[in-house]
Amino acid sequence: MRSRLNDLGLSDITDKLDAGERLSLEDGVRLFDCPDLLALGWLANREREKRHGARTYYNFNIRLEATNVCVASCLFCSFARLKPGDPGSYTMSLEETWDKLRERAHQPLTEIHIVNGLHPDLPFDYYTEMLRGFKRIRPGIHLKCFTAVEIAFFAELYEMTDEQVLRELQAAGLDSLPGGGAEIFAERVRRKICHDKCGTERYLEIHKTAHRLGMRSNVTMLYGHIETCEERVDHMLRARALQDQTGGFQAFIPLAFHPDNNQMRKLPAPSATDTLRVHAVSRLMLDNIPHVKAFWIATGVEVAQLALWFGVDDLDGTVQEEKIYHMAGARTPEAMSTSAIRRLIRIAGREPVERDTLYNVVTGPEAPDEAPALVQ
Ligand code: SF4
Repeated sequence: MRSRLNDLGLSDITDKLDAGERLSLEDGVRLFDCPDLLALGWLANREREKRHGARTYYNFNIRLEATNVCVASCLFCSFARLKPGDPGSYTMSLEETWDKLRERAHQPLTEIHIVNGLHPDLPFDYYTEMLRGFKRIRPGIHLKCFTAVEIAFFAELYEMTDEQVLRELQAAGLDSLPGGGAEIFAERVRRKICHDKCGTERYLEIHKTAHRLGMRSNVTMLYGHIETCEERVDHMLRARALQDQTGGFQAFIPLAFHPDNNQMRKLPAPSATDTLRVHAVSRLMLDNIPHVKAFWIATGVEVAQLALWFGVDDLDGTVQEEKIYHMAGARTPEAMSTSAIRRLIRIAGREPVERDTLYNVVTGPEAPDEAPALVQ
């Protein structure tokens, strides 16, 4: 492989990786330009195995989108409806949100992941009460809720600072932040695809504040639309720079753009090779973020499985009832049982490890894969 990398003109990048040196913006762009996908995968897999060996993480979680009413107008979004009462709009009552957990009393869930539209009329205590209710029903559940975009929106709507919003949510039970809303950090792209929501500086500042308050978070990147490879690498470098300051990001999660039912429907969805390339380059650039996750709902199950050899060490979780990608045309299932996830990891030649949100091991690779399916 070394001579193949030399022939591709990547010997200097290989040397840097051997020496534990950081890759630059220019290095990242050259990796995206590399025509030999398997050579790129080999390099990314080497970094993955240095950190995690064959271990591949997933968790037993549920997604909840309590409302799709949203005042923003992101061009790639198929989920949002502008006003309450618009066809297809919905807002759950608090009882309905809590029922999602109550009806899964038999499932050993460890996490609820909640993201919502930016609803202009709900009171702040809708969100704080929602968190308190979940903790009442199951005190040990980890609540990973509200993107930085939602936090910024709450601050403006309820006339608080970002820190006050985070502190009040934390007091109500918030444990960590998901990474959504990052899209692409480059202003050129943001102006075109999501001009009316929280910008890059504020997204990063909110994560920085959450880390300072003791919460962990993730960071995402929406790829495969109008962004250039340079803008992808720039996005990774901005996440890497914040991670140098705080160490609070747990995972980097590339999210594939899906074109159905939104204003960017003329664009094709990213190819499987592009998806593998993005995950591989992410692993190589982000030397300080421990995990690179393939969100199987977005990539497709088979590509996520392949990605386990292209830098990825995490497959998200059982998910259950995902709406955002399915309204954008995702053909993946809406849920996977833990036994199905374990099997697909094992078949890919990797070791399945169930984790909690903070990457504590719940079930190690030695557990049998034939466990009964727990998602119904
Ligand atoms: S991506 Fe989020 S903020 Fe943008 S329109 Fe959709 S729900 Fe609203």
